[in-house]
Amino acid sequence: MQDLDLEKIKVEAKGEIENAGDLAGLVLIGKKYLDKDGVLGEFFKSLGKLSKEERAEAGVKANEIKQYLAAVFEAKSGELEAKNIEQSGQNFFDTTLPGVAPAVGHLHPFTLIEREIGEIFSGMGFEIAESREIETEWYNFDALNVPKDHPARDEFDTLFMEGGLCLRPHTSPGQVRYMENHQPPLRIIVPGRCFRRDAVDASHMPNFYQVEGLMVDKGISVANFKAVIDEFFRRFFGGAADSKKAGGGGNIRLRPSFFPFTEPSFEVDLRCVNCSGSGCSACKGTGWMEVMGAGMVHPAVLKNSGVDPSRWQGFAFGIGMDRLAMIKHKINDIRLFYGGNQRFLNQF
Ligand SMILES: [Zn+2]
Repeated sequence: MQDLDLEKIKVEAKGEIENAGDLAGLVLIGKKYLDKDGVLGEFFKSLGKLSKEERAEAGVKANEIKQYLAAVFEAKSGELEAKNIEQSGQNFFDTTLPGVAPAVGHLHPFTLIEREIGEIFSGMGFEIAESREIETEWYNFDALNVPKDHPARDEFDTLFMEGGLCLRPHTSPGQVRYMENHQPPLRIIVPGRCFRRDAVDASHMPNFYQVEGLMVDKGISVANFKAVIDEFFRRFFGGAADSKKAGGGGNIRLRPSFFPFTEPSFEVDLRCVNCSGSGCSACKGTGWMEVMGAGMVHPAVLKNSGVDPSRWQGFAFGIGMDRLAMIKHKINDIRLFYGGNQRFLNQF
């Protein structure tokens, strides 16, 4: 009786193993017959019911069959694996699969901001001019009405090279260079990189970006400046800096200041784009953010640039592009923009 059962198991198992179509199916068949809980396992458990002699004989027989089936299983397994490798080799290049898109970079947030500023001012009739990163002392200081021993030079103290050249600490030399070659009326912005001896912290870098602005024409006043800058911020920040939304109080305010190259000079504050002026941590509770320095172009600067100050007047301003990027994207540490961390940059 036991012999008959064993032979039957052997034939059935061998047949099923040899007919397995793939490895997954084969594994299931292996479990069915060879596992502890499988058909042979159950047979071993049933041996307890037999007499001692019968048990020994059936046990030996069952072990032989188990080893035999294990060998058949191994052989079939090897055969199917070889078949798999062969097939995957044949189908290695599947032309129907979508391709792997190469990683494509994008412009740095500063470049995007620079272009946006350029577009807004172009829309108001300003030309975009370029100037030099390496300047002479004349263009950096003297022509801009900053005499040799004037203390105002200290805050612009920059990186000097041989031959009296230095890295520009601001974009203002671009005003002089442009006016040397162009007579008013004129409207320009000069975006570019500047350098100062600032120690690195959350809001300072020795390398930063500025946008210079200059408008010279007949009868230009502070009112023209306010109108242009108000419109610029309205377009740049959208609704957040809309003076009408801010209760009609205007979205900028001017505070008296001093720059050697403008007279009068002022600091320009923008109504906080975060809280619309009610006070928050971004504006230190004041409702205002300091965004640029500006003023009416000093007659001495016009004269040094070859423009007659008795006939022409104008305004000039310098916007910190890094600062605008920080405000616009709500970034509280300038160093992130210079770090090259892709997880940061990919957000823009
Ligand atoms: Zn605020």
